[in-house]
Amino acid sequence: MDVVIGLEIHVQLLTRTKLFCSCRADYFAAPPNTLTCPVCLGLPGALPVLNKKAVELALRVALALGAEVQEVSQFDRKNYFYPDLPKGYQITQRAVPLARGGALTFRLAGQERTVRVRELHLEEDAGKLIHTERGTLIDFNRCGVPLVEIVTEPDLRSPQEAREFLRALRTLLRHLRVSTADMEKGELRCDANISVSVDGRPGTKTEIKNLNSFKAVERALQAAAEHQRALLSRGERVEQVTFGWDEGREELLLQRTKEEAHDYRYFPDPDLVPLVVDAMWLAQVQAAMPEPPWEREARWIRAFGLNPSEAEALLVDPVRADYFEEVARAVPNPKAAAGWVLAELGQYWTGDEPPLPAADLVALIRAVEEGRITRPQAKEILEKAVLERTSVPVLLSAAGGVVRDEEALRALAEEVLRENPQAVADYRAGRTQALGFLVGQALRKAQGRADPKRLAHVLQTLLSGG
Ligand code: ZN
Ligand code: MN
Repeated sequence: MDVVIGLEIHVQLLTRTKLFCSCRADYFAAPPNTLTCPVCLGLPGALPVLNKKAVELALRVALALGAEVQEVSQFDRKNYFYPDLPKGYQITQRAVPLARGGALTFRLAGQERTVRVRELHLEEDAGKLIHTERGTLIDFNRCGVPLVEIVTEPDLRSPQEAREFLRALRTLLRHLRVSTADMEKGELRCDANISVSVDGRPGTKTEIKNLNSFKAVERALQAAAEHQRALLSRGERVEQVTFGWDEGREELLLQRTKEEAHDYRYFPDPDLVPLVVDAMWLAQVQAAMPEPPWEREARWIRAFGLNPSEAEALLVDPVRADYFEEVARAVPNPKAAAGWVLAELGQYWTGDEPPLPAADLVALIRAVEEGRITRPQAKEILEKAVLERTSVPVLLSAAGGVVRDEEALRALAEEVLRENPQAVADYRAGRTQALGFLVGQALRKAQGRADPKRLAHVLQTLLSGG
């Protein structure tokens, strides 16, 4: 039994104002119902005016995916009643979407996979219902916030693949600077449809609505696949139904059956003229496109010698990617810079902004590469610089040099050998891994201020009777 999955992804576009009015669109931290006006509240007589910036951001996505932008597209009304939708309809693009076709290539367990895109369209978001013990509250701030909806072909073959596709899409959206695409904030949301086919015959689709994390996407699809397989193996039929997903209990919740399916009575919105995207406008959008992540990755692998998994980890967040690029260009060994940014600095990188100025990390890496300090010293300085907000050059000059003096190293090594007779005996009996232990002890005594390679050499010389 094969699994066939398609996704419908809603992405909140990073515009200053809403899709059809001049209310601010960054509703997330705003007090409820403070970002509204007659247009987004759907008051009688109010007229929508299309936000050009939202169109341009959606066009960026279309172009990056290789979709075919429709020269003339159209806005339609999707009619339904729900308390978070004061107009009684959502403005979307149904008959002619902004763009059709395209694809996204990504990696799944090291293998390249390509998923085709059916269409991309612009639409407005609805408000938000907040369920409390005393009743349900409504916040209209999100009404009219611009979304681009990306609909894939049913090309995904496992829940895990769906998750990785979504991850790759998020990376793309962030690099294009069209969305912060934070799933926790609902800036990237996903509906999924799934069917299990038997002997190559397509099965009946079930839909899962509003998946708000990568984990939810994977788990909900796994649950839906298991549910369908169980029905089919009992000889029962899969019904065309829509589920929600309870993330806490990891359970599918039946929302509606086929009989309850809505008829949205779509028709062209008479308040909006058709959207015309001519060649000149499209060329302008193309010219302003940021470098897509796959091009950046190829460049880094070529120029800096990174491996794909390092590149992928750095590309997750464009701020981190820019930071790495700045550091990599300024140090003698760009590949080592990847390790510093991902591992050493990565442990302190919890917010949006880098925890240390790039120039400081450059100074630190240079000091290590030039042998002025050891790696353990560098880690200590890094910790101090980040936690105490001190500049790296200041800490470097206070750090003092590495113990390089042969006499001092030898004295240190002799002391360690005296204190660890068992390890010495082990080494002499052929258990050479005892050397690593002795080097560790010596490094501890030197408080990290000795070069481990030279220490190992001195210890070895002494152990072999030198
Ligand atoms: Zn408004
Ligand atoms: Mn939609």
